[in-house]
Amino acid sequence: AQERVFNFAAGPATLPETVLLRAQSELYLWRGSGMSVMEMSHRGKDFTSIIEKAESDLRTLLQIPPEYSVLFLQGGATTQFAAVPLNLCAPEEPVDYVVTGSWSDKAFKEAQKYCKPSVIWSGKSEKYTKIPSLQGLEQNPDAKYLHICSNETIHGVEYKDYPTPTNPNGVLVADMSSNFCSKPVDVSKFGVIYAGAQKNVGPSGVTIVIIRNDLIGHAQGLTPVMLDYKIHAENRSLYNTPPCYGIYMCGLVFEDLLEQGGLGEVEKNNVKKAEILYNAIDASNGFYKCPVEKSVRSLMNVPFTLEKSELEGEFIKEAAKENMVQLKGHRSVGGMRASIYNAMPLPGVQKLVAFMKDFQARHA
Ligand code: PMP
Repeated sequence: AQERVFNFAAGPATLPETVLLRAQSELYLWRGSGMSVMEMSHRGKDFTSIIEKAESDLRTLLQIPPEYSVLFLQGGATTQFAAVPLNLCAPEEPVDYVVTGSWSDKAFKEAQKYCKPSVIWSGKSEKYTKIPSLQGLEQNPDAKYLHICSNETIHGVEYKDYPTPTNPNGVLVADMSSNFCSKPVDVSKFGVIYAGAQKNVGPSGVTIVIIRNDLIGHAQGLTPVMLDYKIHAENRSLYNTPPCYGIYMCGLVFEDLLEQGGLGEVEKNNVKKAEILYNAIDASNGFYKCPVEKSVRSLMNVPFTLEKSELEGEFIKEAAKENMVQLKGHRSVGGMRASIYNAMPLPGVQKLVAFMKDFQARHA
């Protein structure tokens, strides 16, 4: 049989082997139900138990306070770029965006259709290698929310601490798609957290929204029913047919993360993996380079370039031969990118680093 590879893709991304095997064993028949999760009524007691367990395990993992709702939605994080302004402000109201990379830039551009967003800081002129200092952020005193992307998947910059909105009635909103559940987070600092599942917690098709309850119920009149948080909160994510199988898979991942000891333990592993990889890059005498400022380097997405850029194709080809795939950087930035989400095992990173050293020795 063909071996599984080490998949360094940015998303959809590698999933824990234990979760895949468990899903395999339950794929044809789920417990005593006589059917697969894919075939179940989303309103039946079996699926109800699945979605309730997924929510309660996620609440345990992130210690989500009771005054927050958890929604399992569709449309990807991209849909939330519109849902956030539609639900949180009126068309003439100001909101603030910090643009640290392509994803926060996309979120800002989408918000322009629904309210009056300002870019209060942009890392574009420095090729998105930085996160602003929290003190230096000049916020609009009336901004209804301050939007950040906690981890820029393409550029590999990650917040290590979070800004506080200066407007006492404003809230912090974060796109956590690519570092969701990779470390503990103080949810109470945020009004809304949203994330596509397909990096750390499951297959694509599920989008998770964590929202403080008082922010629900203020959607603009023209908001499509599928984007209205109130509709989904009132119906416990079952207003229409949800992505049932994806939610089941997320539930298996949450169980697995709890079994690992929770997000504190998960973070320790992620720190260790990232250190090994960044150390290898920094110790290569410039053969490999990571452009990101050291203090904000992502634990999840590690972009790097080769000094001899003409060797990039060869690097990717040889790595693939050794069962390490999807190392090509995003088409907008080039170079390499190793995504090392929760489910990338330590041996995968160790193997990559050993390969990088060997490749350098042969090509320096
Ligand atoms: N935000 C971030 C940080 C992302 O990494 C991505 C996907 N790569 C998106 C948003 C868009 O997510 P989706 O494809 O789920 O719409």
